[in-house]
Amino acid sequence: PRLANQIAAGEVVERPASVVKELIENCLDAGATRIDVEIEQGGIKLIRVRDNGSGIRKDDLPLSLSRHATSKVYSLDELEALGSLGFRGEALASVASVSRLTLTSKPADQENAWQVQSQGRDMDSEVSPAAHTDGTTVEVRDLFFNTPARRKFLRTEKTEFNHLEEVIKRQALSRFDVAFSLRHNNKTIHSLRPAHSTAEQQRRIAQLLKPEFMQNSLIIDVERAGLKMQGWVGLPTFSRSMADMQYFFVNGRVVRDKVIAHAVKQAYRDVLYHGRQPCFVLYLELDSSGVDVNVHPTKHEVRFRDQRLVHDFLFSQLHHALAQVRP
Ligand code: ADP
Ligand code: MG
Repeated sequence: PRLANQIAAGEVVERPASVVKELIENCLDAGATRIDVEIEQGGIKLIRVRDNGSGIRKDDLPLSLSRHATSKVYSLDELEALGSLGFRGEALASVASVSRLTLTSKPADQENAWQVQSQGRDMDSEVSPAAHTDGTTVEVRDLFFNTPARRKFLRTEKTEFNHLEEVIKRQALSRFDVAFSLRHNNKTIHSLRPAHSTAEQQRRIAQLLKPEFMQNSLIIDVERAGLKMQGWVGLPTFSRSMADMQYFFVNGRVVRDKVIAHAVKQAYRDVLYHGRQPCFVLYLELDSSGVDVNVHPTKHEVRFRDQRLVHDFLFSQLHHALAQVRP
């Protein structure tokens, strides 16, 4: 079964960033309100993710590392979108099969914390006592140590860290209610408290993106015909080309989509100087029946039932907002 895990791992575990994405999603699923991420050497040497969520019971610890061992109920739509076998219940097993993994956890109603370890295909079936407050820590060391072919595809420490930081940025931008921290090689990169008010959210965005973005942006907060859009759009005067500062969330998930990109580009068309890129952090909410968010773990695709409606809403609202600053 561990060999099957390694094959499946190729699909979920591409690089340190994909490990971090899966681990943080698990923390959020467990209801965590605080997530601390510690990284060494771009995640190649160490990824440690700690949360204060619901935890895993002692007896369930070994199970959590085995394949198809999900404790979660997925909707039929989600499973369909994933294809017949899918990835669910496989993330931890997949990561475990290509690393040295330690899983430590303590549910609030359990007196002590317990731990399981695995080294690639060998799982130590022993559950041993550990020290841990309420919640879970997953420690992933030496990613791909037993799959040299895949290890060869890893880029420099810096590149891998950039990918990983991007994953955390997106998650921190989509969950203002959760505290996040990120350390790399013993240096604090981000330390984010929960952000409830608009001012706190703006502070978080300023910390995650360029602080100048906040000082050079307009607040968007509009609702029409079942479509709701909130967020911030950078002013044309915010002159640098920052294609990496484009964040669009649909019902809480980050997406990249042609319809959205086109609408935004059109709205900025007569205010942006040549060669500049629009910068934005925008949240679109609509009834789930109006949108199909592909839940494939690595894609960020979306399909709107009424593409024209969404396109025209985005275009007209953004165009209208930007008109305030048009020369
Ligand atoms: P899935 O998330 O699809 O269920 P995973 O392989 O990611 O599959 O996780 C397997 C199981 O391990 C989860 O269903 C959950 O019960 C448990 N688990 C993993 N991470 C955590 C966590 N941080 N807190 C609580 N439970 C967790
Ligand atoms: Mg998971």
